Amino acid sequence: MTTYLTLVSKTHRLPEDWLDRIRLVSAKNAMQETFQLEEETLRQFLRLRRRLLDEGIDMEAESAYRSIEAQTNLWAEFERDCGLAYCQQFVAVPGYSEHHMGLAVDICFVRDGKVLEDHAPGKEALFARVHAVMPEYGFILRYMAGKEAVTGYGYEPWHLRYVGIEAAKEIAARGLALEEYLAE
Ligand SMILES: [Zn+2]
Repeated sequence: MTTYLTLVSKTHRLPEDWLDRIRLVSAKNAMQETFQLEEETLRQFLRLRRRLLDEGIDMEAESAYRSIEAQTNLWAEFERDCGLAYCQQFVAVPGYSEHHMGLAVDICFVRDGKVLEDHAPGKEALFARVHAVMPEYGFILRYMAGKEAVTGYGYEPWHLRYVGIEAAKEIAARGLALEEYLAE
């Protein structure tokens, strides 16, 4: 249980033995891209996805597990294209990304076979629906609006974090950031 409540943030590095503690499994999204998540996280994500699909919402995993090496490459790519200042603001330092945990997933929406663009009409309503039902499946919104000073990140409606159903329900009901919940 405690595994799912581990904190990784700008100030908390991924535990060294993390990959010995979890089991990563692979799946494919509708775009036929392979992604990996921790076993229970994937199972619950697919249940959440099925639930939303029944409501006519096609939510897909866009980015899930990333190794420290992949994050290092991502950082180098962004530093080359956008500069160091951009990286420092928007890209997680390798070793400090929740995506290393296999418990975080960035979602996108597919409509008529296409991934919805950032400012596509109706996208906010889709996020709102996901956020409303996901605690029942163990997911929380990790980077909330108004909690930037606590989490160190701006609002990211697409970034879902698995913490287990019981914790997710309490965290969502009380509107807490994960840091605030863990500090109690
Ligand atoms: Zn993310």
